[in-house]
Amino acid sequence: MTRDPLLELGWDEGWQEAFDALAIGDAEPARVVRIDRETSRVVARSGEHAGQLPKKLRRDPATRPAVGDWVAVTTLPGGGVLIRAVLPRRSRFARKVAGKATEEQVVSANVDTVFLISGLDQDFNPRRIERYVTLAWDSGASPVVVLNKADLRADVGELAAEVEELAPGVPVVAVSAKHDRGIDRLRAHLGAGRTIALLGSSGVGKSTLVNRLLGAEHMRTAEVREHDSHGRHTTTHREVVRLPDGTLLVDNPGMREIQVWGSEEAIEEAFSDVETLAAGCRFRDCSHEREPGCAVRAAVASGALCEDRLSGYRKLVGEYAALRERETERARRSSTPPRRRR
Ligand code: GDP
Ligand code: ZN
Repeated sequence: MTRDPLLELGWDEGWQEAFDALAIGDAEPARVVRIDRETSRVVARSGEHAGQLPKKLRRDPATRPAVGDWVAVTTLPGGGVLIRAVLPRRSRFARKVAGKATEEQVVSANVDTVFLISGLDQDFNPRRIERYVTLAWDSGASPVVVLNKADLRADVGELAAEVEELAPGVPVVAVSAKHDRGIDRLRAHLGAGRTIALLGSSGVGKSTLVNRLLGAEHMRTAEVREHDSHGRHTTTHREVVRLPDGTLLVDNPGMREIQVWGSEEAIEEAFSDVETLAAGCRFRDCSHEREPGCAVRAAVASGALCEDRLSGYRKLVGEYAALRERETERARRSSTPPRRRR
């Protein structure tokens, strides 16, 4: 029995319905496994193809196809396929476009689970983990916090418990990628046709972990040999890689450039405890600084809320406000016609 290549890429009934709803007569579904400036690589039932992005889809960084997207493609007469439409995304990770402070570009789509990697070395930073969790909730993917380099500390259990408290409901897994410890507990979050991605600062051990998950197959699985238009052999790198157990791993440069920025809803979700307390403040716009009747300060005073957690919350709210301000400023500038010189 031959396997349906789309099922191996995570195709399901929901995607089929979304595809049918597009009603593009001669199109077939495909998944984007690599994106370049004007072309892409897609995998369809009919095989792997070079995919052309029409100008219409290329123009807007937010709607431009991304690695992991499901798309509808039609065959081009000269070979390759044309991407006609992008199916509505279940999740998306975006980064700020270089040079433009607040415009975002989707760098990967339809990630089911994101491993938020931190090192248990001197860089261990619960505030940063909090922000990565916020970012993950905002993307639509389910977060799993991975504490790597567990071999470097004796108090791993306590640190994991501390992180569990910061991120209620989020699984926290301590591992040592280098020494191959705890990796099996990560495998519980994997599975054939599921799409995962890794997020974390440079040096936390992402490459080491990817190599562990890939096992003996190593990074070579990502390479596809093909003939270019001059008949030469070229090597392209897929940015969606299949692990031996059938899990799909999104591993692309864009993910590494993601900076931590959030949305109001994501802040509320990550700091649901603070938000719940704030509902009890006397003033609706309480800043929890020195207003009378502040339920948040009261909780800190009684020890029910950790002071650090409140400052983590303040910092994120502050950054978010600064971001909004930049956005507003940019919108104002682009709507004011430039003054003509005489
Ligand atoms: P990346 O930048 O996130 O891809 O990080 P790398 O995978 O390149 O790892 C950065 C450094 O951390 C390398 O020197 C690794 O050998 C080391 N490293 C990775 N995992 C572990 C671990 O579990 N324990 C220890 N002690 N070092 C690790
Ligand atoms: Zn308050």
